[in-house]
Amino acid sequence: MLPSHAELSAPNGLKIKVPTGIFINNEFRPAKKGGELESFYPATGELLCKVAKGTAEDVEDAVQAARKAYKTVWGRKISASQRGAIMYKWAELIEKNIDELGTLEALDNGKPKWMATTMDLADAAGCFKYYAGLADKIEGRTMEHDDNMKFAFTRVEPIGVCGAIIPWNYPIGMLSWKLGPALAAGNTIVLKPAEQTPLSALRLAELAVEAGFPPGVINVVNGLGPDVGNAISHHMDIDKVAFTGSTITGRKVMEAAAKTNLKKVTLELGGKSPVVVFDDVDIEKAIPWVALAMLFNQGQDCTAGSRLFIQKGIYAKFLAKLVEAFKQHGVGDPFSDDTFQGPQITKQQQEKILAYIESGKQQGAKVEVGGEPWPGAKGQFANGYWVAPTIFSGCKKGMKIFDEEIFGPVLAVASFETEEEVIEMANDTMYGLGAGIFSENGSRCMRMVSAIEAGTVWVNNYALLSNAVPFGGMKQSGFGRELGIEALKEYTQLKSVHWNVNETLEWPPKA
Ligand code: NAD
Repeated sequence: MLPSHAELSAPNGLKIKVPTGIFINNEFRPAKKGGELESFYPATGELLCKVAKGTAEDVEDAVQAARKAYKTVWGRKISASQRGAIMYKWAELIEKNIDELGTLEALDNGKPKWMATTMDLADAAGCFKYYAGLADKIEGRTMEHDDNMKFAFTRVEPIGVCGAIIPWNYPIGMLSWKLGPALAAGNTIVLKPAEQTPLSALRLAELAVEAGFPPGVINVVNGLGPDVGNAISHHMDIDKVAFTGSTITGRKVMEAAAKTNLKKVTLELGGKSPVVVFDDVDIEKAIPWVALAMLFNQGQDCTAGSRLFIQKGIYAKFLAKLVEAFKQHGVGDPFSDDTFQGPQITKQQQEKILAYIESGKQQGAKVEVGGEPWPGAKGQFANGYWVAPTIFSGCKKGMKIFDEEIFGPVLAVASFETEEEVIEMANDTMYGLGAGIFSENGSRCMRMVSAIEAGTVWVNNYALLSNAVPFGGMKQSGFGRELGIEALKEYTQLKSVHWNVNETLEWPPKA
């Protein structure tokens, strides 16, 4: 039997107690079938702790709790400003515990602790505050017609019980993007964190009780995708499911919704985002952004700028400087403030990335830097899941490293001559999530913004996001939008009301 809390000792000296149970009705309890999941520190491969491994039976209980809460204490049973106030308190508790939560995220995910704290956690708190503020600004429209004989209005209502299935690359970030708008709009939640990174969601659930969320509003069921995720996407009493992860799994979620209750679905899926550098660019300014585009979050980012197109005139010079940048940045200890790149999430992901690197070599691309496990993985880090930052040049369509999402620090570089040519190349993918354009020519940038098929285009920067700016995919990168006011639309439904004022109906009606 698992202890109620696991006690972790972090390399920075912090001692953290994390609940291990399934979170339903504001209480933690063991999984119904008693299973356990293991959580590892990716930098060393050491076991951190075990948490409960839920199954469909636990999802069933969580849905019942969420449904009851929706009908009795949340949704239309609490004022929107009260919902917002509780959410705001939750955000403040995240800020109060930011060091502990950032440490937990670094341990469970391997990302640098300073980045987890200043980005993932700070952004999550900001996201909850943003939607807390919007909770009482969700309004319908009034339409007056027919000379005051009748009028009509719309009500913007919550959807009901929402499932959220999230990945391991931004455990807290993806949680906040989904729960922020869903809770503000009045929905209740059944959340499935990724099995690789269950810890921060459990600690956040504990803080949700402290913030004042009534029992059943937020429920967290850890477990495996084919068990818990599958049960959520097939459940007849879940009204909407929001999913972030691979395109293959996204398809399964949508199929499940189609085969069951036609629950509403939003999908944030993979990408193979193009970054286009024109030869009129300010090279010194562009290099850090292009490096960041690829290496941010160890390359485990759905918008990772993993296909780089450099215009012929500056190809050799730009590539040489980028190789230098890849050599300079700090790989290593997630608890060092000098680290920019930590380990990959799991041994399996590390092996998958190394297999892609091998295929790049086999298919004739040239390794400019890296192309191997990180050579610094020695001592305490010898058994961690490391990959050296890698650049391949001479890449082209047909190479797996150029066509497929790798989800690791592996950049595929190609050259181009004309704007028309690079538009074709950049759009020649099933994905459409992100894109970067680097040029000092404003008109050209605007033409490219229009021509590129992607849900987010960065011009002379990359990877910057804001809670106020919607985010989502085109093509097979998914549909629906997270963040911004737009995300509220994904967690609400419209009711149109026709109201008679002065119109009488004669019977039988005549021409
Ligand atoms: P995944 O899509 O399988 O996992 C994402 C989430 O879906 C997890 O919570 C998982 O448990 C759940 N899941 C798995 N099978 C499910 C099912 N049948 N029904 C419902 N939910 C299910 O991704 P992964 O296996 O963790 O990673 C594989 C690849 O996916 C990566 O290499 C990467 O290319 C991609 N990925 C993309 C993102 C993104 O943000 N777009 C995030 C993680 C992984």
